[in-house]
Amino acid sequence: MAEREAHVVAVLGAGTMGHGIAQVCAQAGFETRLADVDVPVAAAGRAKVEQTLARLVGKGKLSADAAAATLGRLLAVDADAACAGATIVVEAAPEKMELKVDLLSRAARHADARALFASNTSSLSITELGRRVGAPERTIGAHFFNPPPVMELLELVRGVGTSDETIDRALAFAAAIGKTPIVIRDFPGFATSRLGVCIGAEAIRMLEQGVGKVADIDRAMELGYRHPMGPLKLGDLVGLDVRLAILEHLHEELGEVFRPPALLRQMVRAGRLGKKTGHGFYRWTDAGAEPSDG
Ligand code: NAD
Repeated sequence: MAEREAHVVAVLGAGTMGHGIAQVCAQAGFETRLADVDVPVAAAGRAKVEQTLARLVGKGKLSADAAAATLGRLLAVDADAACAGATIVVEAAPEKMELKVDLLSRAARHADARALFASNTSSLSITELGRRVGAPERTIGAHFFNPPPVMELLELVRGVGTSDETIDRALAFAAAIGKTPIVIRDFPGFATSRLGVCIGAEAIRMLEQGVGKVADIDRAMELGYRHPMGPLKLGDLVGLDVRLAILEHLHEELGEVFRPPALLRQMVRAGRLGKKTGHGFYRWTDAGAEPSDG
């Protein structure tokens, strides 16, 4: 068996996805650096990992020693320090091409000469990102799912210029962090987002049309199709702003079926972004989630 590559991982963006991705990498034994717009925001992401690990220890699912060792491998630093000598850079910044190009171009100046540039984008073109970063052969989509420590799938996205070697190294990385990969050709929305946001947007349109209440639309898919979570609750979990950004991109690329529903735009304007703001299609508290429409 090939020797495991001793990666040094830089995760750029410590939000919903980034802190979870950093946890997964540190738990797998890799030195992991977490960065965000500044060090305090990165440190807040690391603190969330600390809380998650403490909960696991409390439930007897992780030893205190393993939790301490994981935290010892996880540093909150600035982006340049995170990328210094990194062998894989995973960006988990907001869904904006310009921002991702800037972040990874800067990362490329500090990272290892053979570093992989992985984007957690849900929909944007890996082909364009790789070309604009100036390393198309080493750029790949590494689409994790929410929450990263729990979700098994890693959707690897192959850009036009992505090399076979990069795919092989990414597959080995996926195995090392305990994920099950699929390799998908770069096309807007890949496999998962294209199908996922389609159902999510249709559920919101059904709500607009008064077809059913929040809980009933969600139950339709949970009980009728065995989805573990209904589309409206899943939208809340992902973040309605994130969902809107994906739909806007897919609407532009793939057409009418992805037009963002007016209700979704209105909720984002109102700051009702779902779980992260405590209010979306559900009201989120420590006690759980209750449908906003009673
Ligand atoms: P988020 O808004 O929760 O987190 C984004 C983080 O990036 C924030 O902490 C923000 O401060 C930080 N950031 C902004 N500008 C930055 C910069 N210049 N340098 C470093 N950090 C910066 O968003 P998220 O939900 O974690 O999404 C991140 C990416 O992951 C997006 O591309 C999204 O499409 C994708 N994604 C999201 C989900 C999900 O369920 N939320 C699932 C899969 C993929």
